[in-house]
Amino acid sequence: MTYKITAKCISCDLCLPVCPTGAISIIDGQRTIDPNLCNGCVDTLYTVPQCVAGCPTCDGCVKQANNYWECWFDTYKKCMDKLTNKNQDYWETWFTAYSQKFSEQLEKKRSSQAA
Ligand code: SF4
Ligand code: SF4
Repeated sequence: MTYKITAKCISCDLCLPVCPTGAISIIDGQRTIDPNLCNGCVDTLYTVPQCVAGCPTCDGCVKQANNYWECWFDTYKKCMDKLTNKNQDYWETWFTAYSQKFSEQLEKKRSSQAA
């Protein structure tokens, strides 16, 4: 089972150093997971995927659907959630705003350290 980084990624880079297999890298400015290296953190010290556990966004890093039907149901569920406004609940809105603030603070810190 492998994981992938989605468009919700805010480029905080927290997942890069915690991946036990070194599967996460930055290619052309995009954070990406090499499916040949990602083992879902199975057979490591960890009980949960470290990239997901440390990601400050709701779904910046998600499980990669393995086959056609898994992919189909994944897309179907996302569409239904959108149509029924399930994604617009209070905590999701709060978490998205928090993630953006977190990203801004991180960027400021990086800039001040670089100066
Ligand atoms: S699931 Fe584990 S091995 Fe795969 S990218 Fe995430 S941290 Fe790395
Ligand atoms: S921890 Fe999440 S938001 Fe940060 S770089 Fe990794 S996938 Fe993107």
